[in-house]
Amino acid sequence: MEAMTPVSGIERLTGARLVVLKIGSALLTEKATGKLNRAWLQALVEDVAALRARGQEVVIVSSGAIALGRHTLKLPRGPLKLEESQAAASVGQISLAHAFQAELATHGLTCAQVLLTFGDTEERRRYLNARSTLATLLKLGAVPVINENDAVATAEIKYGDNDRLAARVASMISADCLVLFSDVDGLYTAPPSEPGAVHIAEISQITPDIEAMAGDAASELSRGGMKTKVAAARIAVESGCHMAIANGRALHPLRALEQGARCSWFLAHEEPHHARKRWIFGTLKTFGTLTIDAGAVRALSSGKSLLPAGIVRVEGEFERGDAVLVCNAQGLEVARGLSAYSSEDADLIKGHNSREIEAILGYRGRSEMIHRDDLVLKRAPVAEERASA
Ligand code: GLU
Repeated sequence: MEAMTPVSGIERLTGARLVVLKIGSALLTEKATGKLNRAWLQALVEDVAALRARGQEVVIVSSGAIALGRHTLKLPRGPLKLEESQAAASVGQISLAHAFQAELATHGLTCAQVLLTFGDTEERRRYLNARSTLATLLKLGAVPVINENDAVATAEIKYGDNDRLAARVASMISADCLVLFSDVDGLYTAPPSEPGAVHIAEISQITPDIEAMAGDAASELSRGGMKTKVAAARIAVESGCHMAIANGRALHPLRALEQGARCSWFLAHEEPHHARKRWIFGTLKTFGTLTIDAGAVRALSSGKSLLPAGIVRVEGEFERGDAVLVCNAQGLEVARGLSAYSSEDADLIKGHNSREIEAILGYRGRSEMIHRDDLVLKRAPVAEERASA
């Protein structure tokens, strides 16, 4: 594993290229009335605009749909039935998205709503879609505001808490900083109400001790207690993303964090880019082989994507999003990557120009068989280590 340059404290936020912010329901809604806390949202969005103004990309994962919707629908306090919370989410999500859209617009920022379910981030086929949609939104300058698609997701296909959803999003889009804003300022050695509980400012390894400290408690509005936050941290740091648990109660929570407000940082030990390559190269099982011609080998080594035109043979059975080996005409592995097409479709479009894909397959797929972001050259990590040394 390649070590990353150590960054201290707040630089993890100020120096990040892409920041994911997770906003808990308890922050966005007023407890007594169940209404949107507009002043808080305004202040948050001002902070977001400040990050954008200095060139950082921001993705927001916001809870609050159920909390807002149950108020509008006048549902009783206390636990809701699944279908009631789904109904509440359908109603509340509209207000939530509206509020973000209006506030972001005052800073000239475009809001994009993305509703995801577990499968969209966990199943490789759908993961590629969600990843490229988010990347495109960021490239076009929008601020994606994400929530779980609560209205249709049932227990089996649901995250149920936005802490883990936010971590999977951060991992999927190779973010380098994730901040979970809730009503706690971090992890303590014991429940903060107990005497002698000590705040932990930095966690460099998630040990069983750390997990034991997380306990189980969750506040009334948010589903994510400390346990799900530590689970989120595991996902984030594994993907090369630093993660903070911070108290977002006061206005301007991001600014407060930059000014040194107390929080707990879970530290990543490698860059997201390397973590992703390690995941593709080291973790994923490969399902097939694409044999490519000499021109494609040259294109790949100069950092380009693999196009269907350079493929001479397709072996194995794979689905879109599965990992495959890429071999040269001599059968030597030159790279690995995530295929944008199933083996069946890959076989049909191999050797063809990307412009012909639609005519052959009957749908307009991606121009690349393996996009360069999803491709790892066999010896690339060594070369890159030298280059960055
Ligand atoms: N997705 C839920 C909502 O928007 C919240 C889940 C959570 O708080 O973690 O209401």
